[in-house]
Amino acid sequence: MAIYYSSTRNANDKVTASQAILKGLADDGGLFVPSEIPALDVSLKDLADMTYQQTAYEVLKLFLTDFTEEELKHCIDSAYDSKFDTEEIAPLVEADGAYYLELFHGATIAFKDMALSILPHLLITAARKNEVKNDIVILTATSGDTGKAALAGFADVKGTKIVVFYPKNGVSPIQEKQMVTQKGDNTYVVGIKGNFDQAQTGVKQMFNDSAFAELMDANGYQFSSANSINIGRLVPQIAYYVYAYAKLLKEGVIADGEKINVAVPTGNFGNILAAFYAKNMGLPIAKLICASNENKVLFDFFETGTYDKNREFMLTSSPSMDILISSNLERLIYRIAGNDAEKNAALMKSLTETGVYAITPQMRGQLADFVGGYATEEETAATIKDLYEKTGYIIDTHTAVAASVYTKYRKEHADDAKTVIASTASPFKFTRSVMKAIDPQYDTMGDFELVDELSKIGNVKIPKAIEEIRNAPVVHDHVCEVAQMPDAVKEFLGIR
Ligand SMILES: *Cc1c(COP(=O)(O)O)cnc(C)c1O
Repeated sequence: MAIYYSSTRNANDKVTASQAILKGLADDGGLFVPSEIPALDVSLKDLADMTYQQTAYEVLKLFLTDFTEEELKHCIDSAYDSKFDTEEIAPLVEADGAYYLELFHGATIAFKDMALSILPHLLITAARKNEVKNDIVILTATSGDTGKAALAGFADVKGTKIVVFYPKNGVSPIQEKQMVTQKGDNTYVVGIKGNFDQAQTGVKQMFNDSAFAELMDANGYQFSSANSINIGRLVPQIAYYVYAYAKLLKEGVIADGEKINVAVPTGNFGNILAAFYAKNMGLPIAKLICASNENKVLFDFFETGTYDKNREFMLTSSPSMDILISSNLERLIYRIAGNDAEKNAALMKSLTETGVYAITPQMRGQLADFVGGYATEEETAATIKDLYEKTGYIIDTHTAVAASVYTKYRKEHADDAKTVIASTASPFKFTRSVMKAIDPQYDTMGDFELVDELSKIGNVKIPKAIEEIRNAPVVHDHVCEVAQMPDAVKEFLGIR
């Protein structure tokens, strides 16, 4: 059955999946949502015998209904190949009674690779389908991980250019080095003098600027987005929850149909929304545990029903979650508003104008499957240390936020359901914070000395992504004010 996509802010604007992927964001600033969430049409038992690629196909075919089987399989096979350092693509590791779904085995060692390795292929296919003549300019704001994953995905992809904005002082040294050493003539990386929310808002403004769009078109360009607001990122993320469940079933950890919990370190709400979609497709998931760091705007939202971004922005050791405006939450709000675009639009208008909105008690009633929690910096560090000392397994700071929140939840609610924790980054990406958590004395070491030490004490191989940047030259050193972001794009494209 054909699935269409409409804006969360205007029900009348219906497009196909490929058009939604091309556009990224709807014209009215809303996010594209599917006309319905399709049910899985294979049994869990059958899924248990599938590879990651086969599982991905079973999910993608239901959402991206204007793509042919051949097109989808080509996209999937081009994405989930030897760029990943394990054939499993997303292995599941048991440690201290929880199941860590390692989503960091791709090119840039963070979970963004799961979606961003396939998005360029989906986008190119979508452009061909819709007879797009313009070059596609991917505009991306990053809190650290999206940027590199998008750069790696799009570098030297014909017919595309990519511009990445990141907060100059808001990403880890390894994250920054990964981005500024990015090769490819079609790539452009800019540090902004501001935080992630400002980068994201700046990018959204460019998307909504119709004069800019006309100027682009006149020069043979059009924007698209690689941010997690693009439905072409969200849908591939559903696949790994289905895969994880099937894996637990195959290994006899759970019975067919047994409900599991998932715990997700959350920033922009894309990853956990994918889990929510998976649940709505029929995957037996009980609780969706939404873990925040000290930027706990989502925790407060689940506690009170009021979303309030008016607060101090904290820089934490889990920078990819340092976010006060969780863009993808809008898709959930739309849904619990009864798929009512008008109601959602009013709430989002309030968010833009005042930084606050409150949902109705009736809407709140539909959030029962979500559990909000947060971890302080101390709790996050203690979680890394405890798990390491107990099991020898080393997790990154983001994953540790989820592990900490999960541990507290499990204790408080005596809920012993098997739980999958989304492990969103390799510890090698946040080496200093991770090693300092294990022993503060490590802080005196240099960045790459720490990498070697982590490999030694954790008994894990240094990922290729890290080896590659050790001696790579910096090729991007552009820094600009927030207000100059459009000028930076024009300069890169050579248009005025
Ligand atoms: C992006 C990111 C997150 C947050 O994911 P969202 O989909 O934005 O909620 C968590 N951890 C890591 C390592 C990330 O890169």
